[in-house]
Amino acid sequence: MLKKIVKWTVLVIATLVVTLATCSSTIFAAATSKPTPSWGAWDQTTITYKTNTSSSYYKSVWKNAVKRWNKVGVVQLKAAKSGEKADITLTSSKSLSTKSGKLAGYTNYSYLNKGNENEIVSAKSTLNRSLLTKYGYTKNQRTNVATHEIGHALGLSHSSSKSSVMYASDRYASINHQDKVGLEDAYND
Ligand SMILES: [Zn+2]
Repeated sequence: MLKKIVKWTVLVIATLVVTLATCSSTIFAAATSKPTPSWGAWDQTTITYKTNTSSSYYKSVWKNAVKRWNKVGVVQLKAAKSGEKADITLTSSKSLSTKSGKLAGYTNYSYLNKGNENEIVSAKSTLNRSLLTKYGYTKNQRTNVATHEIGHALGLSHSSSKSSVMYASDRYASINHQDKVGLEDAYND
């Protein structure tokens, strides 16, 4: 008899937790439905890249991040043939210090301003190996940072949504629906 009561109490608590979770996710979805903003776009949707790092570990991190963007289906990132100049260079650095302080990753780009829009002509994304190691980033979290940097190289800006891969300071998020819609907005005009 006593066992039964205990079981029932556990069940009530479990139900309560589920209800709370449903509530907060509804509020969250409503507050963050804006597409990820963009600052520019490439002229074409097939964009070449090369990984310029001697580390096979970071080659694989970049390769996984490239796969994620290709899966979205808006642009196609293709490895540049040897000797061919790549649109985007993906690399890693032992350390990285910038004006904005210590960053997990960084993207430089050049673009042409064409009135209302910016046409990206080259980009280079770098991962900061020492910082990622110092703060114990897992391989998946490093892939999230790599995905964020490629997002900049494709023209996306920061999102205020924590579930977006383009949230400024986060290692946990990957590409979400807002990022997909933001990329579509940038390329399907
Ligand atoms: Zn960023």
